Amino acid sequence: MVAQEMAEQEIEAGRGEAALDALIIGAGFSGLYLIHLLRGAGFRVLALEAGADVGGTWYWNRYPGACCDVESLQYSFSFSPELERDWRWQERYAAQPEILAYARFVAQRFDLYRDILFNRRLARAAFIPERKLWAAETEEGERFTARFLIMASGCLSLPNLPALPGLEDFAGRVFHTGRWPHQGVEFRGRRVGVIGTGSSAIQSIPVIAREAASVSVFQRTPNYSVPAHNRPLGEEDYAAWFAARDHIRAAAKATRNGIYCEFATDSALEVDEGERQRRYEARWAAGGLPFMAAFRDLLLDERANETAAEFVRDKIRSLVRDPETAQALAPRFYPIGTKRLCVDTGYYETYNLPHVRLYDLRRRPLARIAKKGVMLGDGTFVPLDDLVLATGFDAMTGAIMAVDITNGRGLSLREHWRDGPRTYLGLTVAGFPNLFLVTGPGSPSVLSNMMVSIEQHAEWIRDCLVALRRGGAAGIEATAEAEEGWTSHVAEVGVRTLYPRANSWYMGANVEGKPRLFMPYIGGVGVYREICDAVAREAYRGFDRLAS
Ligand code: NAP
Repeated sequence: MVAQEMAEQEIEAGRGEAALDALIIGAGFSGLYLIHLLRGAGFRVLALEAGADVGGTWYWNRYPGACCDVESLQYSFSFSPELERDWRWQERYAAQPEILAYARFVAQRFDLYRDILFNRRLARAAFIPERKLWAAETEEGERFTARFLIMASGCLSLPNLPALPGLEDFAGRVFHTGRWPHQGVEFRGRRVGVIGTGSSAIQSIPVIAREAASVSVFQRTPNYSVPAHNRPLGEEDYAAWFAARDHIRAAAKATRNGIYCEFATDSALEVDEGERQRRYEARWAAGGLPFMAAFRDLLLDERANETAAEFVRDKIRSLVRDPETAQALAPRFYPIGTKRLCVDTGYYETYNLPHVRLYDLRRRPLARIAKKGVMLGDGTFVPLDDLVLATGFDAMTGAIMAVDITNGRGLSLREHWRDGPRTYLGLTVAGFPNLFLVTGPGSPSVLSNMMVSIEQHAEWIRDCLVALRRGGAAGIEATAEAEEGWTSHVAEVGVRTLYPRANSWYMGANVEGKPRLFMPYIGGVGVYREICDAVAREAYRGFDRLAS
């Protein structure tokens, strides 16, 4: 059945009011906070979650070495000082099990489990204009009606499974990093092949290599990676955190990417070579994503960017003993940071191990996967017992477009977004009333500390629903002009940066047939928050209200 048929059945059934005020899709951090906020504001809410527990991306991504690349103290909710006092992170960068435990802790603490239905995947949703509500149906066949539909389904949740020739012939085990078996995987004595060298691969390869008999990495595009320098957090770290916490939390909200760190305000080109090297060395020694904040123009100016890129290439050459492998690992086809910068623990050093080998698919492409291994274009056969697909996600739009969403006026979201996502503020879509997206395309989203962006979006949505209720409106819909203006603005600021130079998932370039455009909003979380707040203050400028 398609969404439109379901809607017709709903209309025929002629039921009255929506059973729910808001149906939330996903019980990751966005869904959890939305339940808490909307319920607190007196709304009837329900969340549908495809997994068997809360946690979203941290529920699914259980591959070895999975770890956050934003420091734990900042990658956590800020809305409740009591929550912050009662939860202790063990490490500077929390690993997946700890983040999942945190999500469960939050869900229990705020009694959120009772409003979540697990093992439910939304199949279709249709807005019914006659009744001013959304009708929704899960793949399991359950139906719901709600005034508002909120897609909190995550930006990196739908795995990208590229068409690898012969994959179906492979006799060994096949795993995708984003759908890792919950019981874990034993690699002892196994010959493991890893396809992909993005963040997931870069985190998992060193850990898999500790166990496996051999690791063969198939690399199409090398990534830039900086060290995490992960370490346990102690009492001193916590004392320092609580002393500065209020300042850090407030300041992070006004930054470009929602991460509090020292943002340099000078250009990489206005200092001499000695100062540049000193600055990069200090950032490298500190570790993590703030490397890209060493100068203000690293993502704006190609020549400035090249100084940072060359610094990292030099590091790779110094860390990897075999010159040919080092050369293949050193990216040179795109500016540093325009694909998501990776943060690793011992990634480059892993290639010095005798049982780890890099295959550069640019030199010899992957011809096909055979029953017992991988055949390369030059006739090399790499025998394998297991294949790990670290091939990423259909990012930002994948989980939303996976649902058949129609607007009751003959338009589906898939058609509306055929040439790429179009939104107003990354939060709403013209022609689709009462539909909200959390950290959707057109918002800072994946360019930011997700926790900061999630809190901002959830609070904005809550405030909007409260304002509509107070004004007696049945809903809200972005105007076509507002959507057009915002979508153009997102594109304009995107092309002013170096981001479009890379074939990245930010650009939709990793999924065959996906339209190429820079999806997130690069204006910065501080600027973006001000814009969203101004829209609300100005009586929701750019929106039409639905009369009740
Ligand atoms: P990704 O960055 O999209 O990397 C996918 C890798 O698979 C790329 O190296 C890609 O090569 C390769 N690939 C895809 N199709 C291929 C094919 N047909 N043949 C050969 N290689 C192929 O995915 P990811 O590593 O899962 O990371 C996605 C994002 O998730 C990250 O950028 C990050 O934002 C987030 N993440 C974060 C963390 C963290 O540290 N917190 C950890 C994991 C993921 P090409 O580059 O040539 O396409």
